[in-house]
Amino acid sequence: MSWQEYLDTHQDRFEQELLDFVRIPSVSARPEHMRDVERAARWVADRLAAAGIENAEILPTTGHPAVYGDWLHAGTDKPSVLIYGHFDVQPAEPLDLWTSPPFDPEIRDGRLWGRGASDDKGGMFIPILAAEALMAETGRLPVNVKFLFEGQEEIGSPDMPPVIAAQRNRLACDMIFSADGLQWSAQEAQIVMGLKGLMGVEITVDGAATDQHSGLHGGGINNPLMALSQLLASMKDAQTGRITIDGFYDDVIDLSDEDRAEIARVPFDEAGYLAETGAPASFGEEGYSVRERLWARPTLEINGLTGGYQGAGTKTVLPARASAKITCRLVADQDPERIAALIAAHVEAHLPPGVTAQVDRLAGDADPFLVPRGHNATRAAEEVLAETYGAAPYITRVGGSIPIMTLFLRELGVHGVMFGFSVGDENLHAPDEFFRLENFRRGQTAYCRLLEKLGG
Ligand SMILES: [Zn+2]
Repeated sequence: MSWQEYLDTHQDRFEQELLDFVRIPSVSARPEHMRDVERAARWVADRLAAAGIENAEILPTTGHPAVYGDWLHAGTDKPSVLIYGHFDVQPAEPLDLWTSPPFDPEIRDGRLWGRGASDDKGGMFIPILAAEALMAETGRLPVNVKFLFEGQEEIGSPDMPPVIAAQRNRLACDMIFSADGLQWSAQEAQIVMGLKGLMGVEITVDGAATDQHSGLHGGGINNPLMALSQLLASMKDAQTGRITIDGFYDDVIDLSDEDRAEIARVPFDEAGYLAETGAPASFGEEGYSVRERLWARPTLEINGLTGGYQGAGTKTVLPARASAKITCRLVADQDPERIAALIAAHVEAHLPPGVTAQVDRLAGDADPFLVPRGHNATRAAEEVLAETYGAAPYITRVGGSIPIMTLFLRELGVHGVMFGFSVGDENLHAPDEFFRLENFRRGQTAYCRLLEKLGG
C-alpha cells in the first residue's frame, strides 16, 4: 500500500479520532478547564506514540503544558524538521449561537463542527496522521522530525519563551513548519512570507500644575492638549501619509519589483474593502497600493487621545495634562526599541514651548518577520502546495504578528513556514467553528509530500 492508500483507507478512523480530540474542552483561558488542557496534552502525547513517534512526552511549564515528540533516525544527511501546533482552544461562549454543542462535535455537510476543529486541533492532527501513514507504509520517515505542540497559544503563550529557551538544543532544527495556519480560500493556497511587528508608546504632555481658567490664563500659558495635537500632527504628513519621524523608514526593507508583482497577483477588491470598513475613502502612504500598505509598509497610529473637558456643553478650561497612546505596526528590519527611541527624540525636538513631555513604553512589543527570498523550506512548501491545489500559491503577508514565529526565529534562528489547512471563514474564535474534511484530507497528503520532498 502507498501512504496515500493508507490515508484513504483510514479516513473514517481519523475523523472519529478528531471528534474525540475536539470533545476535550481544552479552553486555556479558563482556570476551571486546566485539567482539560492537561487531558488534551495527554491525548496528543499518546497519539504521537501511537503514530510511531518516539520520546513523546508532556513538557511542564509554569502554566499549561506543551507536548514534545520526535523521530530522529533519517540520518545526519537529512534535515531536521520541527512541526508546531496547539491543542488549546478559545472559550466557546456564547453557547446559544452554536447549531451543535461546541464540545459535542458532529459531522455535517462534509464539515466537522466544534470548538477547536479548525483552530487548531484539526490542523495539528494532520502532520501526526501524515507521520503515521509514512511510518506504517515505509517503517520510517524521510527526514528527522520533531513535534512541538503547546496548550496556551490562545492566551498568548505566556509561559512558552522560557520553555523554548530551555529546550533550545532539543528543538534545534533546520526548518520549522507551523500546522496552525490558513490557506487563502477553500480551494486556493498561500504562503505567508511576512508578519508585522508592534511597538507602542504613551506620550504625556504637562502644562500648569492644575486645570486653569481659559479667561484668566488663556494667552498666558500653553495648553498641553493643543501642544500634544501639534506634536502628533508633526509625526505624519496629512497629504502623503508619510511618517515624518527622522529615521523611521531607515531599516525598512523596500519592496522589490518581484515583491510588488507577487502582491499584485493576489486578488483585492478595493470597493469591497471600503464597504467592509465603512470608510469613505482609502488613505495611506503615497506611492503604494492599499494592499502594499496593509502588508508591507509600517504604520504609526494614534489609538487614544485624552485631555480636558469631554462632558456636555462648554467648560472653559486649560487642561493641565493631555496624553496619547500610539502604536506602530513595524516591518522588517525595523526594531521596536529603535523606533521607540526615534519617537522620543522627535517629541524632544518638536515639543512646542511652555510644556513638558514624557514618553513611556507600552507592553506588547513584537519583532517584524520576513522570510528571506529563496528560503529552502518555503520553496519546498510552495512546490507541494502547487501540486496539491493545482495552482501556484499566493505569496502573502499579514498585518498582524504571530508571536510564536518570532520566538522561534529569536531562540532557534529559523524562519518558520505556515503550513496549515484552515480557512479564514471557518468561524475561528466564533460560534459554529468548523473544519472542512476535504482540507483535513488534503493537508495529510500535503504533509506526506512535504516530508518526502525534504528527504529527497
Ligand atoms: Zn491557532
